[in-house]
Amino acid sequence: MPSKKIHKILVANRGEIAVRIIGTLRKLSIASVAVYADNDADSLHCRLADEARPLGGGTLKDTYLNIQKIIDSALDAGADAIHPGYGFLSENAEFAEACRANNLIFIGPDAESMRLMGDKIRARQFAIDNDIPVVWGLVGSVEEIEAQAAALPYPVLIKASAGGGGKGMHIVEDASQLHLSLEQASREAEKYFGNGQIFIEQYIRNPRHIEVQVLADHHGNVIHLFERECSVQRRYQKVIEESPSPTLTEERRQAICETAVAICKSMNYRNAGTVEFILDENQNFYFLEMNTRIQVEHPVTEQRTGIDIVEEQIRIARGKVMGYTQDSIVANGHAIECRIYAEDPENNFMPAPAELTLYHEPKMRGVRIDSSIDRPTVISDSYDPMISKLICHGKTRESAIDISRNALKNYIVQTRKTNIPYLQSIIDNEDFLNNKIDTSYCEKHQNELVESMHKMRDEVKKEDVVALFLFYDFNKLYLENNNINNVWEEIGYWRFNMNIIVEADGVPYSVNVEKIRRKSLNCTINGQSYEVLLSQNGGGVNKVIINGTTESVFVSETSDNSYCVHLRGLDFICRRNDELNYTKDYSNIDSKNNDMTYCSPMPGKVIKVNVKEGDEVKEGDVLCVVEAMKMENNIKAMASAKVAKVFVNEGDKVDVKNILIELSI
Ligand code: ADP
Repeated sequence: MPSKKIHKILVANRGEIAVRIIGTLRKLSIASVAVYADNDADSLHCRLADEARPLGGGTLKDTYLNIQKIIDSALDAGADAIHPGYGFLSENAEFAEACRANNLIFIGPDAESMRLMGDKIRARQFAIDNDIPVVWGLVGSVEEIEAQAAALPYPVLIKASAGGGGKGMHIVEDASQLHLSLEQASREAEKYFGNGQIFIEQYIRNPRHIEVQVLADHHGNVIHLFERECSVQRRYQKVIEESPSPTLTEERRQAICETAVAICKSMNYRNAGTVEFILDENQNFYFLEMNTRIQVEHPVTEQRTGIDIVEEQIRIARGKVMGYTQDSIVANGHAIECRIYAEDPENNFMPAPAELTLYHEPKMRGVRIDSSIDRPTVISDSYDPMISKLICHGKTRESAIDISRNALKNYIVQTRKTNIPYLQSIIDNEDFLNNKIDTSYCEKHQNELVESMHKMRDEVKKEDVVALFLFYDFNKLYLENNNINNVWEEIGYWRFNMNIIVEADGVPYSVNVEKIRRKSLNCTINGQSYEVLLSQNGGGVNKVIINGTTESVFVSETSDNSYCVHLRGLDFICRRNDELNYTKDYSNIDSKNNDMTYCSPMPGKVIKVNVKEGDEVKEGDVLCVVEAMKMENNIKAMASAKVAKVFVNEGDKVDVKNILIELSI
């Protein structure tokens, strides 16, 4: 096969995988074309690509799943090839054919391999025909399977032939459940995959999920890049993936990798793929399926082998000989990937699309983050709520776990809910640490993991959170922009006793603020004194010293006037409840230039003017109200007098030197 040139590639995807592919294109000096739905116009993948082509609005069928629009965009842009990423059209044989019909290189296998492996029943039969081990199974119509009800080796698993993403699978424990489960599974298969064909397999108890990354070129070379273990799953969806498998013996590792290569050779597979197996308690492995595309968890393999799989995919698609032989592959150390989602682990992992107010990645040795975002944004409910993947690589499993723990703790993703605390709980869980895992790990440990999430939160003193939040709130202009002359520059420091209520995680705390100045706060919360001092700020990092202990704190404001405070790896929601009804009497402070003119005590905004020229006022009457530092400050008359002049209107911004009102006797 003669090698073809590729100058420009359209990436038919979005999110982190589009970003990741564009990264390799940049490295290879290949021009990149992004495509985007209307609600993605501002996305990172569009900003990073050399050009971005709109797909319009509507449903996924109108945008990322619209073959014609994507082909037209590629032709229009003058692209030579299309990389489909994962999901969307990546395993759609029709799409691969449409690319080829339009002289576009599809970066993936041929349509026939995709059809064969996209149909679980065909793939299973293919494996059997090629002496690849599969679990016992039965293929047939619902009636045919039911006719065997009494003879089935329970428990069995019903699967959809066109299935994927763990959807539509049902465990059947005994014959009495079979009828209903078959009907339901077949209905779901029709609904999700447009194909009601189902089959059953023996359900392996307590299995592990092991998969092998393969690469195959057009010159007959097929290699594996070792295995990944993905046994930490939730509803058959992977949560944490690692490589090497901490479970396989060396002999089984070699056998499973060679089996994966054998499958690829038997089917003349080309490009990158993943062969998935389940492993029983005796280290017997059985072929499950093959994913004919790049996989979400491919970075785990990249970190260990140093091979850029996307680069190899492109090389293979160009018809070149692969850059590696089996003997040249060296896998180093241990890598672990955690999938970061906007979801609520305590509420059945419900997706939690919401505004994301602060994003800050940990920068540490051994850490790679493949992210869909790089700044505050809104997580859309139109797509999968995965935000990013955190991949940590260390010398051993223990060190990869240590790096993961540290990285998760320092990964700031402030939004309504993320699964970061859940991942932290897994990383610290005894059974995970000891590799006592099977595919039901998450389900079995759910209560324990939730308890450990609660415990982590309980261990953080909320008073610390409150003090740090207040420190930020009083200093935020200064903290967010060093160049701004903050209010304290203008008025020096404040010494007073102000009582305010701060809610942290919904619980009110009564705070007596004693002294505020630039870079420090003194207050009492529940009878204990707190002193917060700024130690270092800039570059998104705020180091503060609270009662002698240095802490990193990240705070962002949400659109409903709450604040998200990140402390010791966790996020807390804080809110000041005093803001609208607290009034401070400034009559004794600087609000009075002399007996008759009244100035604003601080830069702020006039929110109420109670008097007009000619009005008679008594001592103590509130002349006007200035809102500053989120407090309402009553400006009171010092003596009975007549209003000579009102200098301000409601809504006016005022500075310390502005005269608000003048009285005369
Ligand atoms: P999908 O294509 O929907 O992802 P797979 O066949 O790849 O479905 O299986 C997904 C997961 O379901 C596996 O990782 C494993 O946890 C579980 N699984 C699949 N088949 C079996 C089986 N026969 N016994 C036990 N668990 C299974």
